[in-house]
Amino acid sequence: MSVVDRQEWDVVVVGAGGAGLRAAIEARERGARTAVICKSLFGKAHTVMAEGGIAAAMANANEHDTWQVHFRDTMRGGKFLNQWRMAELHAQEAPDRVWELETWGALFDRTKDGRISQRNFGGHEYPRLAHVGDRTGLELIRTLQQKIVALQQEDHRETGDYESRLKVFQECTVTRILKDGPRVSGVFAYERETGRFFVLEAPAVVVATGGIGKSFKVTSNSWEYTGDGHALALLAGAPLVNMEFVQFHPTGMVWPPSVKGILVTESVRGDGGVLRNSEGERFMFDYVPDVFKEKYAESEEEGDRWYEDPEHNRRPPELLPRDEVARAINAEVKAGRGSPHGGVFLDVSTRMPAEVIKRRLPSMYHQFKELADVDITAEAMEVGPTCHYVMGGISVDSDTAAARGVPGLFAAGEVAGGMHGSNRLGGNSLSDLLVFGRRAGLHAARYAEATDARPPVDEAEIDAAATEALRPFAAGPEENPYTLHQELQQAMNDLVGIIRRQGEMEQALERLAQLRARAARAGVEGHRQFNPGWHLALDLRNMLLVSECVARAALERTESRGGHTREDHPAMERAWRNVNLLCRLAEPPGDGAAIDLVRENTDPIRADLLALFEKEELVKYLAEEELYR
Ligand code: FAD
Repeated sequence: MSVVDRQEWDVVVVGAGGAGLRAAIEARERGARTAVICKSLFGKAHTVMAEGGIAAAMANANEHDTWQVHFRDTMRGGKFLNQWRMAELHAQEAPDRVWELETWGALFDRTKDGRISQRNFGGHEYPRLAHVGDRTGLELIRTLQQKIVALQQEDHRETGDYESRLKVFQECTVTRILKDGPRVSGVFAYERETGRFFVLEAPAVVVATGGIGKSFKVTSNSWEYTGDGHALALLAGAPLVNMEFVQFHPTGMVWPPSVKGILVTESVRGDGGVLRNSEGERFMFDYVPDVFKEKYAESEEEGDRWYEDPEHNRRPPELLPRDEVARAINAEVKAGRGSPHGGVFLDVSTRMPAEVIKRRLPSMYHQFKELADVDITAEAMEVGPTCHYVMGGISVDSDTAAARGVPGLFAAGEVAGGMHGSNRLGGNSLSDLLVFGRRAGLHAARYAEATDARPPVDEAEIDAAATEALRPFAAGPEENPYTLHQELQQAMNDLVGIIRRQGEMEQALERLAQLRARAARAGVEGHRQFNPGWHLALDLRNMLLVSECVARAALERTESRGGHTREDHPAMERAWRNVNLLCRLAEPPGDGAAIDLVRENTDPIRADLLALFEKEELVKYLAEEELYR
């Protein structure tokens, strides 16, 4: 059939965000010839948009901070559903990953005595986020890119070729992970500019493709986040875990409509910003749930004192984990106490001098000035929830980042599940992707080295992947991919959004089945040279699979926990604490279903980690049998 270029590598990393780049650096440093492939320009990943900072218990701003406190906060934030070994490794290794960035040239903001400055964020007991103003992700990506260039220069000195051991394929999309029997043999991809197909053969593939936000109408995510890695793993036979947990960040822009959903960083609240409703009330004091009551201020005065004297006061409830704040904003708007454009007010103008706001929150200042004509040094912002992050993802081994059930497949960063349980704390993604990006690269390199004979790539599999990719040209313009995408986003927003109900989710599943049938007839015109309609038609397969996982798991979990809120099951149920929901591809697809769902019990939490919590607190979370044990 089509003649397809092939190249041989030891490790292929799909994705050039923080997780992918950190994995690639590690794999190359361990001696593996490594290829990185990314959908957009090198350097333009989600990670570059990260604003607030990287969470790491370095104890620069508060000497009491330790990995144990960070672990505790992460487990509380995730409502104890976190893959606890991941949360442990993450808390232990995050400080080293931040120091390492400095040795590679990153420059974080400093404290007065010259240490890396750390700021407050929701759910973190101490100021813990290392940051560069509100442009931390940019510095992170710049540093990792610089490290990659340094490695390539080293390779050039030794081999005369910059790309002999580490090569970046930018603006290329992977559509299939190829397999030899049960194990990975490479990836099938196309160049977005030319439409040319090619294959990268490798015994080990690291998936680091980020999130799924583009399946929802209101989102902080950019065009690339169509759940590709989640779908690629499913199609390769790996399960996804706990896909019902989608994080709706409490503060996205709500006005003007063209920018609805764009993120307003949590640093605004971390640095003193307060939330008010249309009646001027700081309503968050009315929304502190029982599990957090002892840890949050009961009055505005106490909350305000905490910024100056955190030892003797409790933190303000604006700094509760994101799921709590998002639900509270939703409830205020629903109760008719919202702002003119359907959000609430977030104010820093009365809390900090204008020059401090411009220094600490420069991107926010420009974002509001340029996009909404609002001067945040003089007036309040209008904000509301926006789909931001997916906690669910590829089910991985905590230590090695190996995907379950598919030898040679690894996953790291937002595409991997487990680490954040039912809700991620702000700042814990950048640290997650550095910690587990490194681990994925390390173990992928080791795996590749231990593979005796390279797994062969089957010609028939390449032909099948090429036929699948070309199908939209054969279909004719019977269904329009843009219309299908809009309908999908609307359905997910309205029926599987921030507050969920059984009937609506059942309706969503019916709509998804119809959309899947229509997507099979989605056609495009023109040719393969940069054809966005064609690209979207291919992305639709991924968004539909992932959306079905979210809807099916959300319907199954009859409780409210973290990012998953059921109006018909409003309580967090201890009996669900140790239950994971696993999604696999249904083969053959059942009655309108592409996905099979099974329950699985989580591993018992290790006793020394449980001992970090008070018994009274554990009683609120753990299932009955876990408490007896
Ligand atoms: P990404 O950075 O999302 O990179 C994914 C890569 O995969 C990209 O290179 C993309 O091109 C590539 N890709 C995708 N599909 C394919 C395919 N099919 N083929 C080839 N390549 C593909 N977290 C924090 O911890 N702190 C913060 O302050 C913070 N602020 C944020 C602000 C915003 C506005 C947003 C949107 C998120 C923020 N987050 C923050 C979350 C965090 O930025 C992301 O979770 C994180 O960057 C994800 O990193 P990643 O490496 O997993 O993937």
